[in-house]
Amino acid sequence: LLMAYDPARRLARLQVNLNNSLVGVRLMYELIDDVPVLKDNPTSTDLVVSEGEVRFEDVHFAYGESAALNGLTLTAEAGRTTALVGASGAGKSTLFSLIERFYAPQSGQVLVDGQDLANVRIASLRANIAFVTQDTFLFDGSLRENIAVGRPDASEEDIIRASRDANAHEFIMSLPGGYEASAGEGGGNLSGGQRQRIAIARAMLRDAPILLLDEATSALDAESEAKVQTALTRLMEGRTTLVIAHRLSTVRHADQIHVLDKGKLVESGTHASLYAHDGIYRRLCDLQFQEQTKQDAG
Ligand code: ADP
Ligand code: MG
Repeated sequence: LLMAYDPARRLARLQVNLNNSLVGVRLMYELIDDVPVLKDNPTSTDLVVSEGEVRFEDVHFAYGESAALNGLTLTAEAGRTTALVGASGAGKSTLFSLIERFYAPQSGQVLVDGQDLANVRIASLRANIAFVTQDTFLFDGSLRENIAVGRPDASEEDIIRASRDANAHEFIMSLPGGYEASAGEGGGNLSGGQRQRIAIARAMLRDAPILLLDEATSALDAESEAKVQTALTRLMEGRTTLVIAHRLSTVRHADQIHVLDKGKLVESGTHASLYAHDGIYRRLCDLQFQEQTKQDAG
């Protein structure tokens, strides 16, 4: 039920990656009638991303009566990978929603390169963000259209380059029709791993400096898994990546891990430093990554 209210997820399904163009932005909001739409204020200016640092400064946010962020302060360093870890309900998805400005904080600031998002034109913000989840929306058009949706003016070469980087070009070429093959409704003609790689190709093509990644929880077969992972690694390179982590390998490789609990930052560090002391991270890790940790230790 909660998922139905999670605007980030709903927008992902609704082909939000159109949001490079103003038309796309307008279109997606017409499709979503139960998400409060924030408006630019008359003095808003376009976001200028130089480094791509994302910072939360004493952010409080509640959905109605229900508090989700309680004075959250954290930094995701420019060009680095920051993993977000925390029990269900800790505020991870809300943090993403505030970066995309589906909601505004009740107090405190969310800043990109020092610019308070409250004073930034929303379209210019979203043009700098790519969002990839395991269920990124594919529509019933050709693979080419699905990949190019965030950049309708992309050339053939650009589309192929992005697809190669996403480990998608080969399987696309093996389908009858190649890039003109139909994704099917909701991407139904493709396997889970193939859908993810189309979503990655789409994000590659958009080339946004800030990447929000909600890692897959459901396992793919080993071969697809490996292809998705290498594609993601390539996508993350040189971007500011915030990842809601569900894999041990992700937290291990993250430059920084932020542990959230009840809408606050409670621990930060690398996997090794956090795991070394008997805190909330270690407990979460042992719970969440049980199987993977066992394999690792064994
Ligand atoms: P996480 O992603 O870490 O599981 P969320 O950001 O989804 O956490 O949720 C943080 C808190 O906000 C939880 O208590 C959750 O129940 C609540 N919450 C999330 N989305 C909504 C919503 N749309 N309406 C009301 N409460 C919500
Ligand atoms: Mg969540």
